[in-house]
Amino acid sequence: MIDPRVEWQPMVCPLCRDAGAVRLISFDPDISTVAVPEGTRSLNMVRCRTCSLVYLDSAPTPDTMAWFYKSEAYFGQDAATGYTDYDIQKDTLGLTFARFLGTLHQRTGCAGSLADIGCGSGLLLDQARPWFSLRVGSDMGARAASLSTGVCDCAVTGGPREILSAGYKEFDVVTAVAVLEHVYDPLLFIQECASLVKPGGYMAVVVPDFGGLWRKAMGRHWASFKIPEHLTCWERLTLTHLGDRAGINTLGFFSYDHCFPLSVILDRLGIKISGQGKVGGYRVWLPRVMMTVIYSRPGPAQEET
Ligand SMILES: [Zn+2]
Repeated sequence: MIDPRVEWQPMVCPLCRDAGAVRLISFDPDISTVAVPEGTRSLNMVRCRTCSLVYLDSAPTPDTMAWFYKSEAYFGQDAATGYTDYDIQKDTLGLTFARFLGTLHQRTGCAGSLADIGCGSGLLLDQARPWFSLRVGSDMGARAASLSTGVCDCAVTGGPREILSAGYKEFDVVTAVAVLEHVYDPLLFIQECASLVKPGGYMAVVVPDFGGLWRKAMGRHWASFKIPEHLTCWERLTLTHLGDRAGINTLGFFSYDHCFPLSVILDRLGIKISGQGKVGGYRVWLPRVMMTVIYSRPGPAQEET
């Protein structure tokens, strides 16, 4: 039975609003993590004819997804082990964020103040201490944002607007890891994030790499086809186009390597072992799991011209 709160809608291109698109991949509706309307034959990833963005051609309404993200079901718990994904992956996620922030610092020299949009339980903000004396986060999940208090200076429920409302105006760096692909209006989201960046400051956005080697190797079985949570798939071209439209500069890209416990990788292959055991907890780095785009907000001299 379909949950009465679940409603779906057809999608036009989330970036340019054009409806013309070419079908790339069709998925069986059974893979959807949210109940689909009766009679749905397939869910399709399509490419916009105008701006080339790859997006899902029908999706639950924003209200439906807001309800889904706040539900306990979203914080997956393994019935066999009793551990949540978060418990099992906390250490390796911390290592992943530390490597990401270290690379970002190497590339840009950035330091000072940081806002992390979609901060979850605050692991990235916690790992940012070596470089950032002021650390603020936001997350759509009320529970996650409250957990962050204690690892950062402030955590709010919501997004960039709620950080502004909390009295924080400008940051040296804004990060958004694994958020952009979830939002219904990517341009508005990037503009709101950019409004938190000091002139001359940086924004680092991490997304699954649709043009990368894992997608090419895995095809339709690519782990980042999370339907319908991931509404869009990004490549260098469309990320650059997004920056242009938002009035920010695209400085460059770097690969986002991800550390996983061995148990999580084996689980994906259908092999169950305890994530907390010695073997299951063995750390494995997978390269290029996602990619980072570095944007910069033009400095005061550039903004005047
Ligand atoms: Zn488009």
